Order: sequence, then structure tokens, then C-alpha cells
Amino acid sequence: MKTINIRQAFPEDWIRVLHNIANLFYEDTTIVHGDNEADMYFDLAYEVQHNYTVATSATMTVAGQTFTNTYEKQYDTAGTEKEVRIRCKRALSHVMLDCLEQFTGVTQEWGILTGVRPTKLFHKYRKQGMPEAEIFATLQADYRISDGKIELMKEIVERQLATIPDLDNIGREISVYIGIPFCPTKCAYCTFPAYAIQSNRKVGRVDTFLDGLHIEIREMGKWLTDNNMKITSIYWGGGTPTSIEAHEMDALYKTMFESFPNPETIREITVEAGRPDTITPEKIDVLKKWGIDRISVNPQSYTDETLKAIGRHHTVQETIDKFWLSRNSGMNNINMDLIIGLPNEGIEEFQNSLDESAKMQPESLTVHTLSFKRASEMTRNKDKYKVADRDTVAEMMNMAQVWTKEHDYVPYYLYRQKNILGNLENVGYSKVGEESIYNIVIMEEVQTILGIGCGASSKFVNPETGKIWQFHNPKDPAAYIMTFAESIDKKIEQLDELYNRQLVK
Ligand code: SF4
Repeated sequence: MKTINIRQAFPEDWIRVLHNIANLFYEDTTIVHGDNEADMYFDLAYEVQHNYTVATSATMTVAGQTFTNTYEKQYDTAGTEKEVRIRCKRALSHVMLDCLEQFTGVTQEWGILTGVRPTKLFHKYRKQGMPEAEIFATLQADYRISDGKIELMKEIVERQLATIPDLDNIGREISVYIGIPFCPTKCAYCTFPAYAIQSNRKVGRVDTFLDGLHIEIREMGKWLTDNNMKITSIYWGGGTPTSIEAHEMDALYKTMFESFPNPETIREITVEAGRPDTITPEKIDVLKKWGIDRISVNPQSYTDETLKAIGRHHTVQETIDKFWLSRNSGMNNINMDLIIGLPNEGIEEFQNSLDESAKMQPESLTVHTLSFKRASEMTRNKDKYKVADRDTVAEMMNMAQVWTKEHDYVPYYLYRQKNILGNLENVGYSKVGEESIYNIVIMEEVQTILGIGCGASSKFVNPETGKIWQFHNPKDPAAYIMTFAESIDKKIEQLDELYNRQLVK
């Protein structure tokens, strides 16, 4: 834990940005001002010059050493007040990052970019008509992103456009997320709405939740039908949507297909079957009956001790068996998730995970980097979990990149999270042509995602202005049961506002 004194009194949102930069180098930094004692001190200055140049400088003093940096960028226009503030924050981040890199010797591959969706930035410049060389130069000079990461962004953007040729116009369609908030047990790193199914079933909460969910699917389906909306993709997540019984899944899919408009035109339906211990031949039959063939069977690791340590309650062998059961039953689009940096895992364990993946060759492989989410059991008891250092984590990410290339996978989406090990990223790889449409549209925020069920967030995207806002269904099944009717009304209000008043001319 480091205390950092930024001597100048900047506005709160500026300090937040600078705090994020400090957190790239140290866990849990505290920012203070003025004469307060600290581990390191920053003198930061900025100036907006008459020719629209923003100039910044930093002097960092730490343990008797001093590091300095200056940066300036000239803009073509004066910019609005808001734009000027953004320019200044970015320029200050630039000089602060440089000083911290000098002192620590750590190079931040993502530069000053601390946001979740780096590829969105690439798309933004592409849509503005910026030539590729200029996009590269801007990402390098203004954001300090490394060449390797920019190449990765470019490759992903190209794959996304090949997968969804109408990506830039898909905002008039909608995708749907449906959340089932139950799992067999809770994984130690998890902050998703995932409640133990057995205990909830005993008190009747699974039944009442499912009753509410049927109603919500029907009501939202009615709005979609009445308003002639086209559905691009549907994603069943949670929790683990296969933790309920086969007949319960069957009933839900029946309601979905009866309620949603023109199901035959939906481009993709995915059901997360993340926990291998929930997959049974009966449930696979139900998925096949409804023509759902994209599922996730998530190993996370192929080391039994790790699975035990993170509370997964299934074995490596069970993952392998359930993968082959699904494959041999005709599931022809299977995703598998791996996590880099799980407790006590290093190069050897990750190599083993890659070797095992090679035997199955799922259509897609999503490589996550462990992140310490605030509310997870792992973060609450951090001392109990020993994780790999920054260099080892980076090496594992590199191994994944090399392995996927060797096995004909291409990266097609990526996102970053707070407190992610090594300030790295999560990357979705797939065989060419097997990319998940849902993963792309949600990551690039190109269309509205209607959230149904527990913990489901609806993200409304105005296709004309790009404005985004959210509505969250409750995470807890008990709260959902009490409030789902109200949530339906609120969402319909938002949808009416977005699609009926603004777009119908
Ligand atoms: S299977 Fe997924 S949703 Fe369920 S507890 Fe584990 S990480 Fe959370």
C-alpha cells in the first residue's frame, strides 16, 4: 500500500483518473494533497495554450530521487469545455505514468488506458475515417499503448468486422441476456449472481424465480414482437443456466421461442453450461431439441488441486468427460474458459491446461486473467491465495497467444478489468468462423442488450447518438421475485423512449 501526494488540488474527477494510473503500479494506493506525508510526491502542472496545445509536466520525488517528464499535444480545434478537460486529464496521466515507469522500471503495455474496452477506441477512430497508420500513431503517442497491444486490437477489430459485416449498423437490432442466478457452489473469485441451488430449491425460491422469469420473458417478448424488433443474439448466463433441471430448461426455451419474434432469424443462441458438474445427457437433449448448439463448458484449470482451492467442486476428469459427452451428442460450437494466475498456478500448470485443451480443440477458448474483484471470497481472504508474479502472468498470457496461433485460433474480442493481475486482459479466441456474435456486440457496445432475469443488466444504446445507459435487475432471487413486475415496466418505458419516440420519424 502506497500513499501518493499530488500536491496540486485538482477536481475530484481528475484525481480519480490519476489515482487509476497509480493503481496500475501499486495495489491500493491512497492519494493525499498539500503537506501530508506520503511515500512519493508529485508536482503536476498543465497549461492550455492559445494554439490549442495542451502542455503538461510532472516532477516525482521518491526516496530522495527525482523523476521528471513533459508532454504536449496540439489539437486542431479549441474543443468544448468537456473536451478540454478530457485532454488535460489525458495529458496529466501521460506525464504521471512516465515518471512511475522510470521509477519502477515497469512498462505499462496498455499505457494510460485504464478502461474496459480498448478495441472500442480503435473502432471509434476507424469509424471517423482515420487511416490505419494514423490510428497506430495516435494510440502510441497519445495513449502510450505498446505496438504488440495495438496489433492485437487491430486483429480483433478485423475479425469482428468479418464476423458481423453490418457491425456499424447493428444498433437497430437488439440482443437479449437472460440470467439464471444459481450454481452448485460459489467459486472463490466469483462476484456474479450465483446462489447455491440446493438450498434455494429447499425453500422454494427456484420455483418462484422461474415463475417470474417466464412472465418476464413473455412480457419482454411481447414488446419486441409489437415493436417489430429483430433479435441478433441471445445469451443465457448467470450463474449457471444448466444448474436447473432439464424439464425446467425445456419450459423456459419453450416460452422463449413462443414469445420472441421471428426466432428463425436470430443469429446465435448461447447457453452457459460453465460448470461441467451440471451437464447431463437429458439437458443436452433439451438444448438439441431447441436447436441451441453454442455452449460453454468451463475448465478454468486442468489441475485438481486448483479446482479444489477455488471451490469449483468438480474434477478435471469431469470437465473432459462432459466436453466429450457434449461433443459426441452433436454440440458443435463449444467454448471453454481458462484463467491465468489462479492460486498456486505457474507456467507448468498453465502449460498443462493448454496441452489438455489441445486434445479437445473447442471452437472457442476464452483466456481470462485472474482479477481480484472487490466482493469475492478470494479478495476478502487474499492472504490465503498465493498467485503468480507479474512477469509469470505476462509469460502465461504470451504462451496463450503463441498456443492459440499454433492451433489456428484467432483473437476476436478482448476486455480488461480493474485489479486484473499484471494489468493484462481477457481475450476471446476462436476458430475462424466460430466467433460469438453476442460477445462482440456486448463488448463493443454497438446495440442495446436487453437484460432479463436475475442480475441481468440492460444496456440501452441509442443507435443514432451512441448514448448509453443501464438498468439493473436485482441480483438476489428473493429481491427479483418481489420486483420483477416493476422492472418490466421500467424497461418497457426505456425501450419506448429509445425506439418509439427517438427513432420513428
Ligand atoms: S460457475 Fe461461474 S457464476 Fe457460478 S460461482 Fe463459479 S464463477 Fe460464479
